[in-house]
Amino acid sequence: MGLVGGIGSGKSTIARRASERFGFALIDGDAAGHRALTMNDVRNQLKERFGDGIFSTDGSVERSALARRVFGASAEHAAAKADLERITHPVIRQEFREKIASATASGAPAVLLDAAVLFEAGWQEFCDGVVYVDAPDEVRHSRIAERGWTAADWRRREASQMSLDEKRRRANMVISNAASLDEAVDALVAAVGEMCDRSFVESTSVAGSTV
Ligand code: ATP
Repeated sequence: MGLVGGIGSGKSTIARRASERFGFALIDGDAAGHRALTMNDVRNQLKERFGDGIFSTDGSVERSALARRVFGASAEHAAAKADLERITHPVIRQEFREKIASATASGAPAVLLDAAVLFEAGWQEFCDGVVYVDAPDEVRHSRIAERGWTAADWRRREASQMSLDEKRRRANMVISNAASLDEAVDALVAAVGEMCDRSFVESTSVAGSTV
């Protein structure tokens, strides 16, 4: 099941909690993207495309420098973002395929793919359905205040993603995470159950087992 929503809507938090309570397997799209940047083949291609300016002295990709090149309204930003995706997405997709296969093999009751850019990247092809996590702008802003982003950083990132209205329209279901986290998790689990025609039982505290 895919999870989309605005920045700070609580996708990752809901997914983690659903995993703790119901044993759902998690795939973190952001983490997969970050891992892709550590792979030699990816780094070599990025160096060819973006030059040395996006690398730290230890040879790792400096994500903030890369973000400045790809998040923005200009045609140059859009071309840079398309090239970044051309380089990293095959690796990310491979990771998704492997994680879904291993979660299925280990009997996980469901797999959640938490990826803000799921629709932009076409990753709904991995999903039986997509849930949109809704929270008002002011709630999202206050939740992520600790990230220390400026208003300009926020706008650049949101502008580089599909509009929230469009994401909501494309999703199969909408859940609210404006208030209680556990209510949002309950709504997610009900949505997954409805879309997959299954019911889920809360896990005990024994890791990995469902009773
Ligand atoms: P991003 O798209 O940037 O990855 P996200 O949608 O995954 O963001 P989270 O990182 O899960 O959002 O949540 C943002 C912050 O909001 C976190 O600090 C989280 O603890 C907090 N948060 C999420 N849901 C709730 C809730 N229901 N009540 C209070 N705080 C919440």
